[in-house]
Amino acid sequence: MLGPEHVITEPEQLRVYESDGLTGHRAVPELVALPDSTEQVQAVVRACHREQVPFVARGAGTGLSGGATPFAGGVVVSLARMNRILEIDLASQRVVVEPGVANLDVTRAVEADGFFYAPDPSSQQVCTIGGNVAENSGGAHCLKNGFTVHHVTGLTVVLPDGEVVELGGKALDPDGPDLLGVVVGSEGTLGIATRITLRIVRTPEVVRTLLAGFDTTDAAGAAVSGIVGAGILPAAIEMMDRLTIEAAELAVAPGYPAGAGAVLLVELDGVSAQVDEDAAHVERICVGAGAFEVRTATDDVARALLWKGRKSAFAAMGRIATDYYVQDGVVPRTRLPEVLRRIEELSEAHGLRVGNVFHAGDGNLHPLVLYDAASGETEAARVLAEEILDACLDAGGSLTGEHGVGMDKACSMPRMFSERDLEVFQRLRRAFDPEGLCNPGKVVPTPRLCGEVPGPHRIHPLERIGLAERL
Ligand SMILES: Cc1cc2nc3c(=O)[nH]c(=O)nc-3n(C[C@H](O)[C@H](O)[C@H](O)COP(=O)(O)OP(=O)(O)OC[C@H]3O[C@@H](n4cnc5c(N)ncnc54)[C@H](O)[C@@H]3O)c2cc1C
Repeated sequence: MLGPEHVITEPEQLRVYESDGLTGHRAVPELVALPDSTEQVQAVVRACHREQVPFVARGAGTGLSGGATPFAGGVVVSLARMNRILEIDLASQRVVVEPGVANLDVTRAVEADGFFYAPDPSSQQVCTIGGNVAENSGGAHCLKNGFTVHHVTGLTVVLPDGEVVELGGKALDPDGPDLLGVVVGSEGTLGIATRITLRIVRTPEVVRTLLAGFDTTDAAGAAVSGIVGAGILPAAIEMMDRLTIEAAELAVAPGYPAGAGAVLLVELDGVSAQVDEDAAHVERICVGAGAFEVRTATDDVARALLWKGRKSAFAAMGRIATDYYVQDGVVPRTRLPEVLRRIEELSEAHGLRVGNVFHAGDGNLHPLVLYDAASGETEAARVLAEEILDACLDAGGSLTGEHGVGMDKACSMPRMFSERDLEVFQRLRRAFDPEGLCNPGKVVPTPRLCGEVPGPHRIHPLERIGLAERL
């Protein structure tokens, strides 16, 4: 159907697809299909449906929850070739893209006309819009502008039996149930998006980025509460702690204040007069909360360097540790200082370092648990990461802010949702995919197996002989 050059079956090439960014989970697919159009995706999905073979969509594979981990013996549907921008409609503030378009390429296509695509995951240079839709991805600037779900107005989806449906379009709020809202964030379990209509927004008149250095994360957390409490809505408020600052300095030398225990990056945008007033107010609040230095980026180059430190923070961990595990949890903003203290206690108790870099304005934490797999610390890191998640839930937070549940946290779902909730999720999923072929084993747990398969993913013996399945 696709031509031999667009189907991968060589074992060594298949290995490239055995995991996403969460490399602790691996499985080698039977084959990888690289379709080039909705019709070709439909043909592949129909074949999988006919032969009852599980399949998973894959964008750039940067996911951090094992969402694109293949099903051993199943098919990976890579959307890498579907990377065209199909339409730019500035009058309607819409861009129509194929799913394999990289996030940043949308902004690049419209910035000369004074627009940008707002959701900006730190992986935006490579991660795809298809992956963003599946994960309902966020980013530093989602505090003000909203998440992916607020910027997708239309989808073409190939359902798990091969039927093609259109959800929404260029207009907002189509009649009927909000199926668009159901599919965005469903982590590739309800079908494959092949065409996506995005909302773009006007580039603000002025952007101002402030950097504030504090002795402690407590003081920086107090500044975050102060800013939000004052009724200021920055485009972004990001926090990094001492360990993350150290790694970022080694990797990209952004020039953060020496000796800081925490830095806050606060970006304000809008009309000039308002930004001036807000910037002065933010500075006063930071100083009042104990900032020993507040700096404003004076030009685009200085601003880009401040952001480079933040956006490279995950990768920078490679400078100070051999392995790291990214946790993703949410806490109510006002509980940030207390939860950060709890993370520190847990880090000490387990003897593993934890760096914190996160979307402070949203209360979306990304503790980076550093470990050395070669020294047998993998299991301890996993336990520590789980206890951090418990701390988030105990504080009234949530299991994931933006990286998704995937394979990684499916077993943690009962900690947040009741049995009834999970049953509803399962029924919704079955309505789209009665045979359970579309990205099986992700998001919704199968309680029987969850308790029996700890640690890195492996196929359960009952699954192998066909007596149990992951839903
Ligand atoms: C360094 C780094 C920084 C990151 N920073 C952020 C961040 O700031 N914010 C954030 O939200 N995430 C972040 N991420 C996570 C990741 O980049 C996002 O989840 C991203 O949306 C994944 O896109 P992808 O194209 O790589 O998707 P993949 O990893 O390939 O797939 C992710 C999920 O989407 C599904 N999928 C892919 N394409 C389709 C499609 N066309 N139709 C249906 N389902 C599909 C897959 O089946 C899978 O379940 C980061 C990751 C890294 C490595």
